[in-house]
Amino acid sequence: MPIAASRQTVLDRIAAAAKAAGRDPTEITLVAVSKTQPPEKIAQMLAAGQRVFGENRVQEAQARWAGKPADVELRLIGPLQSNKAAEACALFDVIETLDREKLARVIAEQPKRPRLYVQVNTGEEDQKAGVIPAEADGFITLCRELGLEIEGLMCIPPVNEPPGLHFALLGKIAARNGLTKLSMGMSGDYETAVRFGATSVRVGTALFGERA
Ligand SMILES: *Cc1c(COP(=O)(O)O)cnc(C)c1O
Repeated sequence: MPIAASRQTVLDRIAAAAKAAGRDPTEITLVAVSKTQPPEKIAQMLAAGQRVFGENRVQEAQARWAGKPADVELRLIGPLQSNKAAEACALFDVIETLDREKLARVIAEQPKRPRLYVQVNTGEEDQKAGVIPAEADGFITLCRELGLEIEGLMCIPPVNEPPGLHFALLGKIAARNGLTKLSMGMSGDYETAVRFGATSVRVGTALFGERA
């Protein structure tokens, strides 16, 4: 399928899921996850009108988006090491993977601060980044004390579990911390995420095809 058609299909499905849940489809941002995709596909996605992109590696994103158009919004959705935080703050408009005090402290010192999401490891998986749910409130408070404005929360549910419970948990943690933005849902579960209140979905494969 041409890129523009895949994009339209995903947008239509987001809109249908939103309407079914009694939500306004314009509340939901489609983040096109362009990691590892070839430049020609990204060019097609830009030509189709897509303006919000997600990347999971700082260096790869730097190489690819160094001269990004001013109206393109770039989001970091992969783990961030503290020693890359300054570069990430310089390049990205949004960092969705804030999950440690050390990282929060480094970001707080940067001259340009991206919009920030705290990543929550809702499945408490060892191999996954993110604060565990029991520590989320404390970490959000700490970030605020450091002067960081937190825009919302992000999660990646365990692959072999139904995602709904994880999306619901993320929504609960957000609500009790006064946060309204939820980054959740990928190619396999973005419609479910919309039903559970996602305000942005991160979709790669369903837009671009399989990654190389
Ligand atoms: C790769 C990635 C995605 C996109 O995954 P797809 O299944 O290809 O849609 C979403 N979120 C994160 C954090 C990712 O690393």
